[in-house]
Amino acid sequence: MLKAAFPGSFDPPTFGHLNIIERASTLFDELVIVVAVNRQKQYLFSPEERIEILRELVRPWPNVQVLLCESLIVDFVKKLNIRLLLRGVRGVSDFSYEFDLSMMNKGLDSSMETIFMTTDPRYFILRSSAIKELASFGGDVSSMVPPLVEGALKRKYAKA
Ligand code: ADP
Repeated sequence: MLKAAFPGSFDPPTFGHLNIIERASTLFDELVIVVAVNRQKQYLFSPEERIEILRELVRPWPNVQVLLCESLIVDFVKKLNIRLLLRGVRGVSDFSYEFDLSMMNKGLDSSMETIFMTTDPRYFILRSSAIKELASFGGDVSSMVPPLVEGALKRKYAKA
């Protein structure tokens, strides 16, 4: 059984994340999407909202599940018997950050492996932070996120 974890904030999930999830679901027997909660970070969507949205979005792939992690990712995935972390990279700047992160995780647990999947060229400009900014000004994000996320963003910013 080849199991991998795909950790991230997913605040909110984009077509870029979903593309990585779809492709990874064909490579691994099981894929766990780990919704991270980092107390230093400010999120637009609560952990529960991100989990609910992701669970709906991964419905087409039966070998993909979504879990919440409020501790160190490495510790969390070890308990699930997973030692493979998957991260997506959009370009060199992502890679530089991801490389450092993978070194840190390896330092925490030398059995932990990080593998990188390059973005699909259609999605390489998609970034949750930029999408939130665009949505906050009422911009059209329909080519960047699924309708479910588009609706959730509209509701968030209508309230603000
Ligand atoms: P984090 O806050 O942990 O970086 P994100 O939700 O921003 O979480 O991203 C989770 C993972 O998905 C990261 O590895 C990130 O590089 C990757 N990712 C985000 N957007 C894209 C995209 N458009 N294409 C490929 N990978 C992406």
